[in-house]
Amino acid sequence: MLSEHLKRLLPRRPKRFLAWQIDITTRCRLACRMCIRRGLPGWTEADMGLADFVRLVPYFDDVETVILQGWGEPLLHGELMSIVGAAKGTYLPVGAPPLPSGFRPPAVGFVTSGKGLDKQTCAGLLDAGLDFIGFSFAGSRSATHEAIRVNSDFQELVGAVRSFAELKKVRGVERPRIHVVFLMVKDNLQDLPSLPRLARDLGVGEIVLTNVPGSVIEVGKKELPLVLIGMSFLRNVDMLRSGDTMLLQRRDF
Ligand code: SF4
Repeated sequence: MLSEHLKRLLPRRPKRFLAWQIDITTRCRLACRMCIRRGLPGWTEADMGLADFVRLVPYFDDVETVILQGWGEPLLHGELMSIVGAAKGTYLPVGAPPLPSGFRPPAVGFVTSGKGLDKQTCAGLLDAGLDFIGFSFAGSRSATHEAIRVNSDFQELVGAVRSFAELKKVRGVERPRIHVVFLMVKDNLQDLPSLPRLARDLGVGEIVLTNVPGSVIEVGKKELPLVLIGMSFLRNVDMLRSGDTMLLQRRDF
């Protein structure tokens, strides 16, 4: 039998799954215009219990990334820190199934509206071992953002991102990586050019542009505002198709 030490030195087999998305809650305080919850009467609001979640954790050994969110706001889950710790394999409540020998924890994170994210929660997420957090923007100005992400407060969101970035700086840590997620719809394209400046101001180094199926954005077509054409950070956006996602990193903006 190889010792654990020797096993660590050997090349590891790749994980079988790139990402699992686990919807830990279907509750949310927002009412975004494009949310599928709006069109589904009888939507059930519920949280996944910690005991159910930990039953999945041994399988994360074969998963690169676990995303703790679907159509709900992860911050509303009362046991979020325990869930993050469990996903990393550092916190396992009594009765949890054992982890495989040499368990390889996944990268763990989620995307949030930032609503209700206070300093204490930021600190708790850092302590729990969160690897990445995305903040959902639908505009780089209050009016645009709040018209699409109904019930969201732009200034509260901006404050939440800033708090998180400042806390990381104070602690001198790289993780969690913070990114801005910008959902593109026709009504917010005019805000795209000022998005990189906002991200820089907030201390964020990555922007994910996303294009939801069913809300096709014809970026690059002639009806676009001219200001978008020729901006280096947008040079590849015209390649986006319905449902595509694109990552911009600091060198791009
Ligand atoms: S934040 Fe997400 S789950 Fe909540 S209303 Fe908006 S799109 Fe739906």
